[in-house]
Amino acid sequence: MSLREVADGVHAYVQADGGWCVNNAGVVHDGGAALLVDTAATESRALALRDAVRRLTPTPPGVVVNTHHHGDHTLGNAVFAPPATVVAHTTTRHDMAARGTALRQVWPGVDWGGQPLVLPELTFTDRLTIHIGRTEVRLWHPGPAHTTGDVVAWLPAQRVLFTGDVVMPGHTPFVLMGSVHGSLHAVAALAALEPAVVVGGHGPVAGPEALHATTAYLRWLDDLAGRGLAAGLTPLEAALETDLGDHAGWGEPERLVANLHRAYAERTGAPPGTYLPSAPVFTEMERWLGGPLPCSA
Ligand SMILES: [Zn+2]
Repeated sequence: MSLREVADGVHAYVQADGGWCVNNAGVVHDGGAALLVDTAATESRALALRDAVRRLTPTPPGVVVNTHHHGDHTLGNAVFAPPATVVAHTTTRHDMAARGTALRQVWPGVDWGGQPLVLPELTFTDRLTIHIGRTEVRLWHPGPAHTTGDVVAWLPAQRVLFTGDVVMPGHTPFVLMGSVHGSLHAVAALAALEPAVVVGGHGPVAGPEALHATTAYLRWLDDLAGRGLAAGLTPLEAALETDLGDHAGWGEPERLVANLHRAYAERTGAPPGTYLPSAPVFTEMERWLGGPLPCSA
């Protein structure tokens, strides 16, 4: 992992290789008060993150923001809370409570650690601003995108944007639990902020080009879904016979299968975030890949 200062008192904590369950975090501090954007999947990774934060500031983070409910971003909450207050979208708290530690069952071979699930204590639905010293951290729900409870953290003075998994530079978007059109809307709104630095939920620190690349993928996906539906293909069949083109170099290309399930659902009238059972879709992604989904958490 690497800790990179992207603005004064603002760090991106980037974990390689950024694949399944290997997420990024962010740290905002003024030498005293500190805020953390997301935690990590396993106890050992969360403890390593805590050590990295300690090297920046002796005061433990008072606030942990969960950008969405997925376990790689939230299962490390217990390492920080208490004393931290965990903040998230209202839907994220609901989804965490409903699904618990389900991620651990998807990859039972990972050493997850034994930390308990800690739910967000402070929730909101639209916007919430937190001040860390002189730094303003604007939390904002850009609508359903990667999930239905996504929150981004925007630092207007520093022009730094923490996107959670709405944007994952160098990695394939994943909208199975969110929305294709919602993601397009959200990413356009994020681009309108004109960020200088984009820290995605996975992948290396990037700039606004990561937003444009995400938009291009989502448009390509939606078009592919339209052609697949017209040809009577299932999402898996459409994915198997598709050339990934410009997106072939991105991590986790198998997410195309899952993304097509969401795109098909939306094209046939399903509202954003309508529940789609994930277990059969994960099985189909493994068929596309020709083996188990790799997780190096
Ligand atoms: Zn996620």
